[in-house]
This record gives sequence, structure tokens and C-alpha cells, in this order.
Amino acid sequence: MYEPLSNEQLIAAATDFGTPLYLYDTRKIEEQYNKLTNAFKDHPTRFFYACKALTNLNILKFMNSLGALLDCVSIHEVKLGLMAGYKPDEILFTPNCVDFTEIMAGKEAGVRINIDNISILEQFGNQFGGSYPVCIRINPHIEAGGNYKISTGHIDSKFGISIHQLRHIERIVKTTGLHVQGLHMHTGSEIKDIDVFLRGLDIMFGIASRFGELDFIDLGSGFKVPYREDEHETDVTTLGSKVALAAAEFEKEYNRKVEIWFEPGKYLVSECGYFIVKANVIKQTTATVFVGVNSGFNHLIRPMFYESYHRITNISNPDGAKRIYTVVGNICETDTFAWDRVLNEVREGDLLVFHNAGAYGFEMSSNFNSRLKPAEVMFVDGQFKLIRRADVFEDLLRNQVI
Ligand SMILES: *Cc1c(COP(=O)(O)O)cnc(C)c1O
Repeated sequence: MYEPLSNEQLIAAATDFGTPLYLYDTRKIEEQYNKLTNAFKDHPTRFFYACKALTNLNILKFMNSLGALLDCVSIHEVKLGLMAGYKPDEILFTPNCVDFTEIMAGKEAGVRINIDNISILEQFGNQFGGSYPVCIRINPHIEAGGNYKISTGHIDSKFGISIHQLRHIERIVKTTGLHVQGLHMHTGSEIKDIDVFLRGLDIMFGIASRFGELDFIDLGSGFKVPYREDEHETDVTTLGSKVALAAAEFEKEYNRKVEIWFEPGKYLVSECGYFIVKANVIKQTTATVFVGVNSGFNHLIRPMFYESYHRITNISNPDGAKRIYTVVGNICETDTFAWDRVLNEVREGDLLVFHNAGAYGFEMSSNFNSRLKPAEVMFVDGQFKLIRRADVFEDLLRNQVI
């Protein structure tokens, strides 16, 4: 079982590297990866780390060392993956609403391509026929996910090719001779209910017989991890055994071996991340006690963007009396990390930690308000290693033409 970094270790890192600071513990990534591979050991299963959650090259290299493959949503993520040492066929390229030149760039790089639009499928088939295998992203129209913004399977979603367009897909495949190697779906993020995956699998198996050359079915991601104290992660062990049963039955009927693929992002890197900030000021107003920290939604946008909950601890005063605070950033716009949060008494200068900060934390940061992006540090082999320096003022000017 993973032993979280102690307050003393976190304070030491903050002292060495300064705050605000993103810190990733590779031991937790490894634990999550091993849980997944164990859960799905009964059927050939591959895991492609959805790297948009956290793309630092050192993290990509670490994933590669574990044996995780890579899911990329832009050609630049593909390039980062290749730089990190991935072989082209270990990378799955799943872009959305890109033009044909970006698809072509993926083909030139030799990576696996996941097509999510009829018009691209048609162009690809017309140009390359069956010479370059593809995967097709289907929208099975399953409602799932923690929140509308992170749900992708609904009827209004821009993702995938609707399952109702199956006839059109078949028409293109037949006419152009496309080699369809895989079918893909990804219905959203933070799916606790494993039946959603099983229903998805059922739908995919239901249409698989229309494609005679399938090697894999990709169920995307959406594995949930606990953010609040009382939450639990997706039961991957039960899911693993149910998927294995369903897949074995399907293979018998279909008379062909089919691998199951997944693309976990959050599941692998959410809990490994600690975001350390300093309480700049305590500000008492008529109705509220604010803690104003040396960060803002420019560094961690999830609470404002998705109304997400991040556990916060005061590592400088862990035994202090419990008080009620609203934790805010220093951005000149409403910038609230947490309302009415019970914390051990916060004094100016105390260090606070946001937990579950590994996924979509640094990755979604910006320089809004001309503020600097924080450093990133990785805890590996018992040591803290700097993997990105913090911005300096010159970084704000780097691309400006004066
Ligand atoms: C974002 C994304 C994922 C990862 O989702 P998580 O909720 O972080 O696990 C997987 N597949 C695709 C295609 C994605 O766009």
C-alpha cells in the first residue's frame, strides 16, 4: 500500500524548490499501474497512458519504463512520446476535430491512428485504402461521467462517429478497402459504475462482427479515483474479471482473438500529485475568513472549471485548531479553490497542500495575469528531482515581437 509523502518531506521539497510547486510521487503511479495490470491479467489487455493529463517528458519516460503505452490527442503529444523513447506502434493517436494534415503527420510518424469523423475516414480510405490500418472512434451514446463538461458520450457530444452512422462507416470501409484494426469508445471521465464499461463493451461486441479484421476493442478511460475523503475508485478488479468473461465468450463466437485496450489518465497520475502553495494572507471580511494563497486558477483550474473538489491540508500546522476558511487565489477574477473548508488553523506563511493534483493540474496552467508557471518535481528512487524549472519573467516575453 502506498504511503503518502509525509508533511516533513513535503515541507523539505517546498523549502528546496520554492512554492508554488507541483510534486509527483512515482511510487503512486507505479501502484496504480500495477493494480490495473493485475486486475486485467485474465485477458490480453493493453494500457495506453492518456498523456494529456500530465505530459512532462520525465513522466512519459517513467510510464514507458513501467510498460505503459501512450495515448496522444495532438501531434505534439506524439512528438513528445517519441522523444520519451516510445516506438511509433506503442502510440495511439486519438485527435478530435483536427484537419487531414495532422492525421497525415501521425501516419508519417508511423503511429496508430484513431479516426473520429466520417469525412476524415473517407479521405483516409480514398488515399490509403487498406495499406495503413486504422481504429474508429464510435460514440455509443452512453451517458456517463462526473460532470457534463467531462462527459463525451451524450447525443450532443462532438466526439466519435455516432453508432447510428454505422451503415455509413461500413459503406466507406467496403468502398475503400480500409483495414479497420480496432474500435474505440471513450464516454467520459470519473465513471464509478463499472456497468457503464460493460454496457459499452457489449455495444462494441455487438457491432464488431461487421468488421472482419479487428485486433482490439478500446474502451477508453473514465476510471475514477477518490477526490473526497468518502469516495472510492472504480472497482477495476471486478471489472477486469467481468471483461475477461465477456471477451472470452465473444472470441468464441467471433472466432478471432481480440485484445482489450484502455487509456487511463487520471487513474494513473491524479493521486501521485501534490500541489504546494503558501498562505500569503488571512483576510477576514464581514462574512468570511479567506486564505489568500500564492497561486490561482492559472495554476490549478479544476475547482473553477469543473467545480472539482481537492482535499487541502495545512502541513505547517497539522495539529492546529480546526477553523472554517474559504481558500482563494491571487488572480483578479473570482478565483476560489474551496468554500467553507475546515482546515487546521492557517497562519500567514503556512504551507497548504492540494491533493490529487497530478492530473490536469500543471497541464492546464497558464500565464493569466502575467503570473509565472510553477516548477515541477518528481519523487523517484527516494529523491526529489526537478523536472521543470519555474517560469521566470523572460518567459512571458519569449514569443512577443517588440
Ligand atoms: C482524456 C482522455 C482519456 C483519459 O481520461 P481520464 O479521465 O483522465 O482517464 C482517455 N482517452 C481519451 C481519448 C481522452 O481524450
